[in-house]
Amino acid sequence: MPKHNDLEQKALQFIVNTGHEGVLQSELWRKLGASSREGSRIAIKLENRGLIRRERELCNGRWTYRLYPKRLPASINSIIDCPCLLCPDSSRCSPSGSISPWNCEKLTKWLLQIAEQESATLGDS
Ligand code: SF4
Repeated sequence: MPKHNDLEQKALQFIVNTGHEGVLQSELWRKLGASSREGSRIAIKLENRGLIRRERELCNGRWTYRLYPKRLPASINSIIDCPCLLCPDSSRCSPSGSISPWNCEKLTKWLLQIAEQESATLGDS
């Protein structure tokens, strides 16, 4: 039988890999070979640690939980259009220099654009 920490780690990794779809609690425990009691305890622990969120869902006439990761790993696509990648000043840019991310208009504009897209996405859901 796997140790609790191993199981927590595996459960978290699995949940993160499901991305925005999430996974039914029962399905996860089946895949990890854990009992539902043990699984529920781990899910509550992960939720209390702020790593996942649980949402009640009716499945085949029974209430269960769907588990979602609270944070997803960044993908390369999320920074593909970052202005720093092709910036001619990147070698001279540093947080303490005169050319700095702190006062860079290109970076600020890019970040604001992402924030606007995120808030539009959240508004849709
Ligand atoms: S923060 Fe601005 S100046 Fe610095 S590398 Fe990025 S785009 Fe270039």
